[in-house]
Amino acid sequence: MRHSYAILISLLTISCAGLPYTYSDKICDFPESNPYPGGLINHTLVAKTNISEKDINVEGLKFLSCKENNEIRNVLVPIPLSKKEGDEINILSEGKTVYSVNLQNKFYRESRITIQNQNLVTPPKSMQERISKEYFRGQAAINTFTNFQSLKKNMSLPVDGIISSEFGVRRFINGLPRNRHIGLDIAAAEGTAVYSPSKGKVILTGDFFYKGNVIYLDHGNGLISSFSHLNSISVEQDQIIQAGEILGYVGSTGRVTGPHLHWEVSLMGVPINPEIFLKTNQSM
Ligand SMILES: [Zn+2]
Repeated sequence: MRHSYAILISLLTISCAGLPYTYSDKICDFPESNPYPGGLINHTLVAKTNISEKDINVEGLKFLSCKENNEIRNVLVPIPLSKKEGDEINILSEGKTVYSVNLQNKFYRESRITIQNQNLVTPPKSMQERISKEYFRGQAAINTFTNFQSLKKNMSLPVDGIISSEFGVRRFINGLPRNRHIGLDIAAAEGTAVYSPSKGKVILTGDFFYKGNVIYLDHGNGLISSFSHLNSISVEQDQIIQAGEILGYVGSTGRVTGPHLHWEVSLMGVPINPEIFLKTNQSM
């Protein structure tokens, strides 16, 4: 229903080009609610009067809102992994709580490894400046917001392989907690093609210390995905890539133990579970 509405609005927008038609609000085909840490909330806000995005807040959390019509607005809230089961998330409209949900439990396994060589645990000091620069470039990329295209809820797995590490894994090296795993690892042979999971625009490519050869794609409306450890990159900055086009090939560049693709998806700069966007997702 929402989808056909989106098509209708797109047609109207196109056909009205040049006329004093000011409708320019975002139109989104949203994934369903997965209210857990690393998931997202999809709430339909209904009001008697016109709801504007500036009337909405989610107690400081980032959110995306899309207008269906004057009375209905969809609010999508990516849930940071740092949130916990039971945490209350409130959506407010004009200062009043209009929706409240307690986050569900989502099991994230632990991965504990022991590494004897300290140089492999902590990167050398000489690399810190490079690592820091790359971190900020990555952060700028995932915080990109364009109206390049409507948000699409469906993506395809970018590589034909085996999921070797899920999103959200709690990692420990030599007993000490490290950063959570904020992507999905898909193991495949070196040189296996990596396909674009959805239409996107190349907003950053590089050879990063941790990520190796990496590509960032902007899928529009704050949805960004990145592809790390590539053997080679087949696309260029600013190129528009259709769903299913080859982005590059699986490799083992950067800090890895073997060839795989590390695929990250973020919405409004918040990394979330890529499986939410997969057409075949069974966990919703
Ligand atoms: Zn990974």
